[in-house]
Amino acid sequence: MYHSPTYLKKVFIIPQKLNYAPFFLLLAATFLFQCSSKQPYNEDQTTSLNVKKASWSIIDTIDYTTLNADIELGKPTMDVGVYLPSNLDPDFKKITLHRIVTGLQAAKEIYAPTGVQVNVLWIKTGEINPSYLSIQANKVPGIPNTGYINLYKHSQRHPAELTEHASNALEHIIEVEEDSHRTLYFVVFQDVFYPFLTVSEGRNWIMKTVRTGGLSFPSYSYPGTIPKPYRGVISLSNLERPDRQRRTIAHEIGHKVMNVSHEYMDISPEHEVYADGGLMVYGNGEEIPSEEAGRWHLERLLLSPYLYVLDSNGLKKWNPDYQENGHYYDPIYVNYSIDFPGTPAIAEDW
Ligand SMILES: [Zn+2]
Repeated sequence: MYHSPTYLKKVFIIPQKLNYAPFFLLLAATFLFQCSSKQPYNEDQTTSLNVKKASWSIIDTIDYTTLNADIELGKPTMDVGVYLPSNLDPDFKKITLHRIVTGLQAAKEIYAPTGVQVNVLWIKTGEINPSYLSIQANKVPGIPNTGYINLYKHSQRHPAELTEHASNALEHIIEVEEDSHRTLYFVVFQDVFYPFLTVSEGRNWIMKTVRTGGLSFPSYSYPGTIPKPYRGVISLSNLERPDRQRRTIAHEIGHKVMNVSHEYMDISPEHEVYADGGLMVYGNGEEIPSEEAGRWHLERLLLSPYLYVLDSNGLKKWNPDYQENGHYYDPIYVNYSIDFPGTPAIAEDW
């Protein structure tokens, strides 16, 4: 769910060797599902949490028609919106409007070979509560994956959960409309911290937290624990380097729409994840492989509830929604999932 190869090599490689990659991939969840999906929202209204909604306006210096000139009728399509706060601190320079557009254009190119289109709805700007410029994404997990099951099954049993502050931030920032739960929302935050458990020594775990360049809040980590209208959220905090501009947005979209962690071909997500070739591992790869040998990435993409095809009346015909909140083995994927064992985090003779 993070997109930076270098960063990951430095920061994540140790936990990966200890088989804690799963926790990097976990994201938060929340318990406010029913509130969010049943109450009407508008910008003047507070929600059941009394979180005031931010006010947004579309950046009209962008020619969206030209940006979306690649879109063809009849092909599977995902809708993407971007929230770019106007009151970022002056010293925050990691993300610019130009870098966002570059990343969106790259995502269109990267997904083009699959036949799936990335439709940019808008990029909006507006002032947000400065408390939400920095968030801790998820609560500190209480139970590490001890290796008796793989990370996807672990996440299904113990979903990541949003912090209350993060949940309020999403409610403050993301506008709720009919198709919100089918829309991908990139939100620019200055900092998104991601706490995780990693083995310290022996049979002891410690909590670390990492500053993320992008966090996808994927359903395999947060099955049913993000309020439904906000489940398409993806944070962006760093598009500075050229490789980030090229790959980050596409990679984070991949976590959401393929609903997989960092994995590629015979590389399970609990193993080494730095490799050439695939969009979903760290490196410069952009491939979205297919079939079982490709861990069904293409097939899972095409089944994503975030995809639709326009019918002859211009109505969106959406893919079926998740049946079990979108965990990795959700029935919508039928047989397009991989079973694999967990990896013990500590020595077997403990
Ligand atoms: Zn990632």
